[in-house]
Amino acid sequence: MRTLILSDIHGNLEALNAVLAAAGEVDSVWNRGDTVGYGASPNEVVERIRPIATRNVRGNHDKVASGIMSVETFNPAAKEAALWTQKHLSESSTEWLRELPTGPVVCRNYTLAHGSPIHEDVYILNIRDAWSPLESMQTRATFFGHTHLQGGFGWDNGRWFGIKPQHGRPEGHSQWTLPIEESRRYLLNPGSVGQPRDGDNRAAYIILDDALNTVTFHREPYDIELAQGRILLAGLPERLAKRLREGK
Ligand code: ZN
Repeated sequence: MRTLILSDIHGNLEALNAVLAAAGEVDSVWNRGDTVGYGASPNEVVERIRPIATRNVRGNHDKVASGIMSVETFNPAAKEAALWTQKHLSESSTEWLRELPTGPVVCRNYTLAHGSPIHEDVYILNIRDAWSPLESMQTRATFFGHTHLQGGFGWDNGRWFGIKPQHGRPEGHSQWTLPIEESRRYLLNPGSVGQPRDGDNRAAYIILDDALNTVTFHREPYDIELAQGRILLAGLPERLAKRLREGK
């Protein structure tokens, strides 16, 4: 069984389309939040992901865009984008976002979260944040997002290790495979589809293969200029267009 694991699409239709085309045929799609916010195509992204996502969890941007959480928690650019998104979302997109489940959710033998499985809005940036979720993990692996950084942390008999995908090529498609071992626990972030922040501007995703017992981290180039053009045309902050090129 092949599962496509996505996070932080952020209204970037060009990046999502590139990822879906590159992933090819999969048995399930797990979308782990921040489907909208920042990007200029929130409705198009919701319409694209809604029929194919077999599991979803909500992100903080989904909550703000659909009016569940106050926009006052955001920095100025995020706030401006959130207000734009609220104004442009269709009624049906807003309704779908509003009803997304709160993470963590358990699916097969995996946990799906937006931020930490301890709280949906908490960032897992370092081992201090990762320790408690690793220690208390009841499933084989937990997939998280929110930081827009691909990689994660592992646990082996009370000892931790970092997981940093090695993408040799800075251009074109690249992938890095991690074998999943029965005795270990994993906290894994596919990275962001629509607004990567780890210095690699390619769209990020994971393919989980249950038959091979592997997790493969992928990077896929997409039409950044088109996504930037839509952001500028929509009157969204210029910084949001610029950071797509920088991957930061
Ligand atoms: Zn996000």
